[in-house]
Amino acid sequence: MTHTVDTGCLICGQELTYAQSARAVTCVLCGSRAMSTAACPSGHYVCDACHAARGVDVIERLCAASSSTDPVALATELMRSPAIAMHGPEHHYLVAAVLLTALDNAQGQRERKPADLAEARRRAAKVLGGFCGTHGSCGAAVGTGIFWSITTGATPLSEGCWGQSNRITARALFSIAEHGGPRCCKRDTYLALAEAVAEVETFTPGVAWTASTPRCEHSERNRQCLGERCPFHAGARAK
Ligand SMILES: [Zn+2]
Ligand SMILES: [Zn+2]
Repeated sequence: MTHTVDTGCLICGQELTYAQSARAVTCVLCGSRAMSTAACPSGHYVCDACHAARGVDVIERLCAASSSTDPVALATELMRSPAIAMHGPEHHYLVAAVLLTALDNAQGQRERKPADLAEARRRAAKVLGGFCGTHGSCGAAVGTGIFWSITTGATPLSEGCWGQSNRITARALFSIAEHGGPRCCKRDTYLALAEAVAEVETFTPGVAWTASTPRCEHSERNRQCLGERCPFHAGARAK
């Protein structure tokens, strides 16, 4: 198997373990100190910024250059990059970025993209790795709310778009919850994208974007893959 390192510790590839409460740790790459519940059996800790750095750059650059109007196809393309880990908080940004890109492209607003992508990157960096397991809020779902908040210019004082942004996140979370754990950043990304596309089409009918049907290409990399119970698994029956 070619991809083993990216499913566990970024330094040694061992499976990470998760404690009930955080302890003080130091990032082995940048030296920053943090509190974290994740641990490698050999004691390595890699902070979220270092873990996601390359992936987040690739996401921003590819989306900025892309003329795609299919957020699912764009996500699939990004997931093939070796810079995107099997699991990791870069998926929180990925969801927001591919949705912003596809919608801006579809609506002939390519000039919005650089600012939208930069703002999404800033916001997604606050949605930490492991949020699904520690806050009951999968970061891929939060990515859909980031996307719609930016698209509509929502703030805490907004009315209609405030509700829409929370609703889109809620629908994504519900779908992710129904499929059960353990987390899979690929499955949860695809589930979140499907809900976001459906919601946007109810808010703004006639959006000229498309959403292809995903087929997972990463089952072999995922030690906790649900296999045929995952709707995107190659062996799963199409819904
Ligand atoms: Zn390690
Ligand atoms: Zn670091």
